[in-house]
Amino acid sequence: MAPFEIILVPAMSDNYVYLAHDADTGVTAVVDPSEAEPVEAALTARGWKLTHILNTHHHLDHTGGNAWLAEKYGATLIGPKSETARIANMDITVVEGDTVDVGGHKGAVYETPGHTKGHIAFWFADSDALFCGDTLFALGCGRVFEGTMEQMWDSMLKLRAVPGTAQVYCGHEYTLSNARFALSVDPDNTRLQARVHEFEVMRERGQPTIPTVLADELDTNPFLRADDPTLAAAIGMPGADPVAVFGEVRTRKDNF
Ligand code: ZN
Ligand code: FE
Repeated sequence: MAPFEIILVPAMSDNYVYLAHDADTGVTAVVDPSEAEPVEAALTARGWKLTHILNTHHHLDHTGGNAWLAEKYGATLIGPKSETARIANMDITVVEGDTVDVGGHKGAVYETPGHTKGHIAFWFADSDALFCGDTLFALGCGRVFEGTMEQMWDSMLKLRAVPGTAQVYCGHEYTLSNARFALSVDPDNTRLQARVHEFEVMRERGQPTIPTVLADELDTNPFLRADDPTLAAAIGMPGADPVAVFGEVRTRKDNF
């Protein structure tokens, strides 16, 4: 089975919706359709028929297109069991350790609470694709709205365990603002400096910075490095517990 062909669909002001398509089987999944219109346009342009809708969490900018797309295409809606009360009409609900089957492509489900209590991520190993919603961003992570700093750090550790080759398909184009913040806490990281420069060039050309490669995030994303003594020292917390370091970095970003 060939890997998914994955298309990035910009939506709303800075959301990314993804189409994952298999030409052999005709299966097409959409991940986090914030709105239906650009998704329908992208499908129509390619002659694809939507078969599955995957949701990472309940926020409207990830689910707003569910109803219309499910109705029009009869697509199967899959999302987090613990957000059943907040996402209408899910056909299949999943928990940590479950595997979703999208036309034979197997997606491992990780529960990644923090941004929302029931947030999940999907890891399709056969396509090197990590759909992580608003948990992990390029050079950043989601705001901790519903969970605790400890939960969000645990979620970072879960995603960190995915193979480094993973392409990170996150929910938003927040990369440049994340980059400015990352440099403020980790100014001497030469790998980070180089990546920021690459991202600036991409954005000047009007290109998306997504997907990024997980291995690059491990070297440069401060939220994945809360247990790195170098980062702890750089923010004036040498020897501190990783949860405390993570919480401090997240709080600084909230106020940046
Ligand atoms: Zn969100
Ligand atoms: Fe979002």
